Amino acid sequence: MVKASKSVSPAVIGLLHKFSEPEVSLLREKLLSHYDANHRILPWRSIAATEDDRNKRAYAVWVSEMMLQQTQVATVISYFEKWISKWPTVADLSKATLEEVNQVWAGLGYYSRARRLHEGAVKVMDDLDGEFPSDRDSLVEQLPGVGRYTGSAIASIALGSCVGVVDGNVNRVMARLRGIGADISAQATVDHMWSLADQLVDPERPGDFNQAVMELGATVCTPKTPSCSTCPLQSLCVAYRRSQDGQQKTSISSHFKMVGKSKDKVDESLVKDIECLPECDLCLRKEDWDSSLGVQNYPRKGQKTQSRQETSAVVILQRPNGQMYFVQRPKTGLLANLWEFPSIALTSEEESQWEESITQQLQEDFAVPQSYACLRIFVSDVLHIFSHIRQTYKVYKLSLDDKKPEVICPSKYQGSQWMTREEFMSSATSTAMKKILKAVESSEQKAKDKKPKRGKEEKPVDAKKQKTISQFFNASAKKQK
Ligand code: SF4
Repeated sequence: MVKASKSVSPAVIGLLHKFSEPEVSLLREKLLSHYDANHRILPWRSIAATEDDRNKRAYAVWVSEMMLQQTQVATVISYFEKWISKWPTVADLSKATLEEVNQVWAGLGYYSRARRLHEGAVKVMDDLDGEFPSDRDSLVEQLPGVGRYTGSAIASIALGSCVGVVDGNVNRVMARLRGIGADISAQATVDHMWSLADQLVDPERPGDFNQAVMELGATVCTPKTPSCSTCPLQSLCVAYRRSQDGQQKTSISSHFKMVGKSKDKVDESLVKDIECLPECDLCLRKEDWDSSLGVQNYPRKGQKTQSRQETSAVVILQRPNGQMYFVQRPKTGLLANLWEFPSIALTSEEESQWEESITQQLQEDFAVPQSYACLRIFVSDVLHIFSHIRQTYKVYKLSLDDKKPEVICPSKYQGSQWMTREEFMSSATSTAMKKILKAVESSEQKAKDKKPKRGKEEKPVDAKKQKTISQFFNASAKKQK
């Protein structure tokens, strides 16, 4: 079990965690040869490698990098292709509406990325004469949502700037290569990783080099199943050396032997200490080494912040013709502009009163009369994990008569709409809402497949007190006669 690492100060960094010039040359050569022979063909890479227009290259890399944040390469490929065929240039994207952009993004999650791409495109066209900024710092400064990593990726891959990149893959590869055992998120470690990346990047092929390190992390030096036996950098790797020695240490003298540098050229005061410098801030402490983990002792992460638990009720209001009622979220905040089913926040302190609270809020917020609201049927719980929230949706279905009652949209939303399933699936909505719809459909299918036994039919939430919808309307019709 890995214990939490101490935070580090930038005071002392031992020689073990840096690269010598001969190591840099060797690493570039080995890594680029491996990349040339093995790299994946990806659509944005092909544009970056073959397109003459620098703006088209920068645009393609920018879009791909925004999509790749929090999303796997395999998922991004089809989204990227669809996006580029719809908006081949930054000028085309700047003319799209946010609604269209969200629709093409639908399913990728973290919709703020799509909004920022759109805002950035408008900015490039309106403020920068249609020209992408030409270096890392200007990209970070000018484009919304572009941080140090994305700016470096665009600058190196699309524009040929000699700047390194650091992402999760690079952190893992570097931490293992250099035996960096300090908390990977501590500021001193972050600074050191960036200085290593900037030192290593090959000035002849900066974009390829950066992609090669990331690719190695994604395909060879993976978090849980690193393939050290096929790794081109094995001879330069401190973590590998340690795992093979079966010791909690690597000697600096043996480390330099690995890359053909004589220990005589190294300061003797360092060489005599086989665990790097005793006071080194980046070393993995002897007591923290777990021999069962091998190279996976690196990198080490600080304690995760616990995700928040939240619960809300989602009510699918449905007409006999199958249309469902949706509201559009506000223009800012979490899941901005997306369409969703009416939802009601529930607080854990009042769990015993949730049912009552849902009925009351359907009535107060959406103008659904109590007599209808009580007829909802519980479908199931649906769990969805957002980056810092474990959200449980308690899903209900409420069948309504045509246009009766008329549902009113609460003012906090931008608007509301009755949509068919197909209209909803092609609108801008979140993965969580699609998951909810799937849960409802699967419960309906199960109900169809299984003939209900007498007395075991699904009951409305308040069945003991409430009539079913048909009883309600029959009773009303009789009264009117
Ligand atoms: Fe990663 Fe193993 Fe290669 Fe070291 S030898 S860089 S741990 S895959």
